[in-house]
Amino acid sequence: MREVRRTLAFMLRVAWREKPALFGSYLILFVGDVITAMKNVLIPKLLLDELLLVTKGAALSEHLRLIVLYAVIHVAVDALVRAAGSVAERTKGEITQWFQEYCDMMIGEHAMKMDYEHTEDPDALDQLNKAREGMSWYSGGVVGVLDCVYRIVLNVTVLGGVTTLIFSRCPLLLPVQGIALLMISWMTARNNAIDTRNFLRMSKINRIFGYVMFQLASFQYGKDIRLYDSSRMMGDKAKKQSDEMADIWREQALEQERYYWGIDIANVLRDGISYLYIGMLAVRRVISVGDFTMCMLSATQLYNSLQNSIVSVMDIKKRCSYAYQFILFLDYPAAMQTGDRSLADTGGEGHVIAFRDVSFCYPRSEKYVLRHLNLTIRQGEHLSIVGLNGAGKTTFIKLLCRLYEVTEGEICIDGVNIMEYADEEYRKLFAVVFQDFRLFAFSLRENVAPGVEDVDEERLEQVLVQTGLYEDAQKLPNGLDTMIYKSFEEKGVELSGGQQQKTAISRALYQDAPIVILDEPTAALDPVAEYEIYRQFHTLVGGRTAIYISHRLSSCRFCDHIAVFAGDTIKEYGTHDELAARVDGIYAEMFRAQAQYYVD
Ligand code: ADP
Repeated sequence: MREVRRTLAFMLRVAWREKPALFGSYLILFVGDVITAMKNVLIPKLLLDELLLVTKGAALSEHLRLIVLYAVIHVAVDALVRAAGSVAERTKGEITQWFQEYCDMMIGEHAMKMDYEHTEDPDALDQLNKAREGMSWYSGGVVGVLDCVYRIVLNVTVLGGVTTLIFSRCPLLLPVQGIALLMISWMTARNNAIDTRNFLRMSKINRIFGYVMFQLASFQYGKDIRLYDSSRMMGDKAKKQSDEMADIWREQALEQERYYWGIDIANVLRDGISYLYIGMLAVRRVISVGDFTMCMLSATQLYNSLQNSIVSVMDIKKRCSYAYQFILFLDYPAAMQTGDRSLADTGGEGHVIAFRDVSFCYPRSEKYVLRHLNLTIRQGEHLSIVGLNGAGKTTFIKLLCRLYEVTEGEICIDGVNIMEYADEEYRKLFAVVFQDFRLFAFSLRENVAPGVEDVDEERLEQVLVQTGLYEDAQKLPNGLDTMIYKSFEEKGVELSGGQQQKTAISRALYQDAPIVILDEPTAALDPVAEYEIYRQFHTLVGGRTAIYISHRLSSCRFCDHIAVFAGDTIKEYGTHDELAARVDGIYAEMFRAQAQYYVD
């Protein structure tokens, strides 16, 4: 019930706020549908009674006017209702499409604003899929659900009208229709419950199937799939998922079959008994021939309206339970609870970052990745972070960027816990390039300066020169306006790994953020190119604070400090010369091991 209540409240609110014309369309349809239903039951009776009088000998001239009037009403109402209805339906169709896009946008926007940790949470990913499918495909969206409300209101109104008519002529028809309907509704409800249960089971399979099919078709994965001959594995996975889907469909069809049979039998019984009863009344002249027709038509209308009302109630329940998945998805917190403090109030000349006894374990994990970590980074300092894979270097950056909240301890900037700062301002502090950065299938220019309207061409060129991308960019077919990837443009280019990394670094440097972070984005570059980038990088970063993670220790020479991560905390901290000179130092050993490859 809560699902229906919340979903309906949401739909009505959104429709009223965004597209009130929808209610106008429903009103037009309502008036037309009620008039048509009552006319279809009443006019044949009135016409028949008049015609019978004439056949029994009454003067035609006395009845002709009425006969013509009824016939004209019958035809004219149909024509008028159809014309008004088609205008209303067209408006509704446009609004349906509009809401489809509106809800997709809402899902997209929410997915982007959601806590970062949810992007790795299988439950949240499943929920996103359920929200998408539930809202558009299964529930029919806002208009699909409001159509059910409309059908309930319409059918209950018509029901009131025909019940009164039947009650006045053949009251026993009411229990016959009622009992048949109860049986049919119960069986329909069973079938709906089976549908809903399978929808929830299918959602996960659909997600995996979609993933596999997307990867199979994606240009970006083309190399990996071919080189590792993964197409068979992908094909097998897709087949497994599609077999599972087919099994579910089969199971569902078998389970539902007996209810469909039951519904057919109940319908036959209902019609047989009704005809018998009204026929007897007419034969015994309790009712007129016109009444006989009216009762039969009313019985059909009563049954249809009752059934439509009940089906619509069940349908609304079903549709709301699908659409509710959308609301549940919107319930995922939009972002971590952060404060509204301004960095301008605390920063003064620059920002000091302090990790104070920070410990952290990932959500849904019990293992601490970092423990009791203490570190201070001054404004303008260049810090290099080194350590073996899995030592927690990236996690350290994610915590600083507030993608996750620390489990214990606190991270402060200028003495204030970072959670107290306002989100938008805090995000502007950092320009980060992660190892697994992603470029967009847009132009090179848009990749380096995404979302910037007036690109500062001079600054852009300077950045590209410094990251070593400028010459390569000049050779591209459309220079900086060349599209990356072939997703949208036949002439799009596939940049080399090194060029992609240079693009990502250029993007970070083009931003005017006071803290620049590079998380091993140079792994695809050759040592000379990497050395060049870091050499230039210091000039480019200038007075800004810079943190970078690198496996190539030669680049650490340029840094003010080096933090060596090992055993879930910082094991060594100092300058390159200090650490390299330690006899049993981790850094010294790593440096010696690498240095032998680079002596020349
Ligand atoms: P590094 O950057 O030093 O290679 P990471 O910070 O990426 O190390 O990872 C540190 C540890 O945290 C690893 O054991 C890794 O498996 C684990 N880890 C990383 N990301 C997640 C995550 N999203 N959920 C759970 N564990 C994670």
